Amino acid sequence: MPIYEYHCDKCSNDFESIVFGKEKPVCPSCRSKKVSKLMSACGFLSKGTGGETVRTSASSSSCGGCSASSCASCGH
Ligand SMILES: [Zn+2]
Repeated sequence: MPIYEYHCDKCSNDFESIVFGKEKPVCPSCRSKKVSKLMSACGFLSKGTGGETVRTSASSSSCGGCSASSCASCGH
């Protein structure tokens, strides 16, 4: 399923959301709809709790969007 990263223009919150079709998510922090889609969308959630995004060191990975070494979404 498609999981995308979004950045809230209002409160600068970064969050991940599962999006179907052309639906736009709202910010879980301030409920604003002014969110920007980030390009680092990946098929895996790095963590499952809360609404915050935690970026583990992705430097050693071939996939820039997530910490996994193989990612169906990114093609690596
Ligand atoms: Zn917000």
